[in-house]
Amino acid sequence: MFGRRRLPGRTDEQLLLMREAGLLVARTLDLLSTEIRPGVTTLDLDRVAEDFIRSHGGIPNFQLVPGYAHTLCTSVNEEVVHGIPGGRVLRDGDLLSIDCGAEVRGWNGDAAFSVVVGGPDVARPEDRDLIAATEASLWAGMAAMRVGGRLYAVGDAVEASISAAAARDGREYGIVEDYVGHGIGPKMHLDPQIPNYAVRDAGPKLVDGFTGAIEPMITLGSTETRVLDDDWTVVTSDGSRACHFEHTVAVRASGLWVLTALDGGEALLEAAGAAYAPIAA
Ligand code: MG
Ligand code: MG
Repeated sequence: MFGRRRLPGRTDEQLLLMREAGLLVARTLDLLSTEIRPGVTTLDLDRVAEDFIRSHGGIPNFQLVPGYAHTLCTSVNEEVVHGIPGGRVLRDGDLLSIDCGAEVRGWNGDAAFSVVVGGPDVARPEDRDLIAATEASLWAGMAAMRVGGRLYAVGDAVEASISAAAARDGREYGIVEDYVGHGIGPKMHLDPQIPNYAVRDAGPKLVDGFTGAIEPMITLGSTETRVLDDDWTVVTSDGSRACHFEHTVAVRASGLWVLTALDGGEALLEAAGAAYAPIAA
């Protein structure tokens, strides 16, 4: 049972290696954010990401997932996650989610963000609200992690954050339950799973050096999803738009270190209620 099994804790040396992988993912996503514009295809973005990761000594770790040949997942509008880069031309107002991972010297990072193509000015108001609510729920979920606390506090915090945003925005948001966060380290996907919603169990106890990928997927409607005939692309069952944010985070006795954030989480952790706790290289 997950609840009884002790989670792994990474050493400082291992966390520094994971920071290298995380920073490469962060820089890749930062670069992509400048490349997203109307007229660009999702495959164009994938090539930019692969070139950047490989030229900086990393391996696109999504390509290590059996059956998957790309560096990114690019999910547009009603696509939630696992969209395959291809010839789709992005248009003003599309809600694009980009998920990216890299392995560096045997350690992994995994992160995602969502944005409206063409910028906030061309975004539907509900998409702007959805993006803000989803990103805030990611930081709330991470901020619920502390050594000696319980892992599934993450889901409680994501759900509470989404409920508060729904009340504030006057909208109904759906938390996708079919896909969840996960442990990460020497491989991108490790046990345990980390739900984005409240569950009965408290989950395993968090230990110093635990590393997880927290990744809320929120919709403007249904919590239900289905997989398209390409066997990868996950879409909302009601066609409502979806949003996805993810970070790889390390839990330390003194606080958190967001390994896939450019600044390690320095700017946003404290506002979310957690201390910023990097390791000096
Ligand atoms: Mg991911
Ligand atoms: Mg992930």
